[in-house]
Amino acid sequence: MPASSHTELQPVRGTRDLIGEDARRHFHVIDTAREVAATFGFDEWSTPIFEDTRVFARGLGDSSDVVMKEMYSFTDRGGESLTLRPEATAGVCRALVSNGLTQSLPQKVFYTGPMFRYERPQKGRYRQFHQIDVEVLGSDSPLADAEVISCGWMILQALGVAHDTHLELNTLGDRESRDAYRGALVDYFTAHQAALSEDSVTRLERNPLRILDSKDEGDRVIVAGAPTIEAFLTDAARQFYDKLRNHLSHFGVPFEQNWRIVRGLDYYSHTAFEFVTTQLGAQGTVLGGGRYDGLVEEMGGPHTPCVGWAAGVERLSMLLAEPPAAPRSVVLIPVGDAAEPIALDVLLALRQAGIRTEIGYRGTLKRRMERANKSGARAAVILGEAEIARGVAQVKDLSTGAQAEVALAGIVAHLS
Ligand code: ATP
Ligand code: MG
Repeated sequence: MPASSHTELQPVRGTRDLIGEDARRHFHVIDTAREVAATFGFDEWSTPIFEDTRVFARGLGDSSDVVMKEMYSFTDRGGESLTLRPEATAGVCRALVSNGLTQSLPQKVFYTGPMFRYERPQKGRYRQFHQIDVEVLGSDSPLADAEVISCGWMILQALGVAHDTHLELNTLGDRESRDAYRGALVDYFTAHQAALSEDSVTRLERNPLRILDSKDEGDRVIVAGAPTIEAFLTDAARQFYDKLRNHLSHFGVPFEQNWRIVRGLDYYSHTAFEFVTTQLGAQGTVLGGGRYDGLVEEMGGPHTPCVGWAAGVERLSMLLAEPPAAPRSVVLIPVGDAAEPIALDVLLALRQAGIRTEIGYRGTLKRRMERANKSGARAAVILGEAEIARGVAQVKDLSTGAQAEVALAGIVAHLS
């Protein structure tokens, strides 16, 4: 149905267009992350934006906010329940199994793309947002945890935002540690049940660890007095955590212990971490991750220990001090009909040399010069008929205003 001429169509609530400076910030974050991840040997994967709903809503074990309240699920024309992915990890684990890669481990994956959650939109929180993501699939070594964390830290450094963020690190121990801790938490929170928020009373039954992560003010007061997992860690869990912390020190990644960091889902174990900034108010977590051991099994694969993180591209973009500079073009200005074919030859040669080059589609010399200046072009190549006859062109440096006569054959070298 075409929009009537009176309708002003806007992007859907919680979604954004990325144009100009916004787009440059966004892609700078992604390009930088991709480059850093490559130095660790991560390979980039891409999986579908929508999946069978069961990829994300697995059985009854999952009580996370995302699965309970935030999913964009719909029934397609064939009657199947599909969901726009709220995160990358589940799809990546599904793909590991679907593609028969569970015997070719570890797989080190870099991922980026849009994610979808039905949330209340606010600064740093959208309904379509973007993540970068790294996962090591199929290693139970704490070195894998240290590598993914180091990768996150090096990306923040490469973006120039590391000084604004700090790493909060925790362990959730192994199953034995966690079961013991869970019991202690249930006792503690049951004793304070009357003062807990409604959400947290629900969590008390489903997943008491999640209460530690509550954003409710009243809950936070109670959480402050809750026991920590430290006293419940088995020797094996403690050793794992010690190794991780040693590796992080080797890699030069500073961290703080935070016993309150949990990841919501049941399949998380050992490492949990967040990179947090004070710059973005309530949306201060820019990167979060941890170790998860049961997810590939839930996709129908064998037991496969994994560790990874996801970071919000929008939040990282906001932290960038300066937007990346707009790229500057060389602009060709042919003057007179006879100059145009030569201009096209020069245009092709400059582009083949990898130089960003544009040509106006119409206009007088004066108009074209004005537009070149306004667009922030770095140089203008003026090709007049008389000059072409002599085999030269005028090249004007638009930053300095300096103009030089350059042989046509030497233009590429002059502008490289
Ligand atoms: P929060 O506590 O802020 O809701 P989360 O625990 O739901 O975060 P994760 O699922 O761990 O977030 O996702 C990793 C990162 O993705 C977050 O740290 C954040 O930077 C980003 N992120 C999550 N949800 C959104 C959203 N709705 N809009 C923008 N970025 C988001
Ligand atoms: Mg959330």
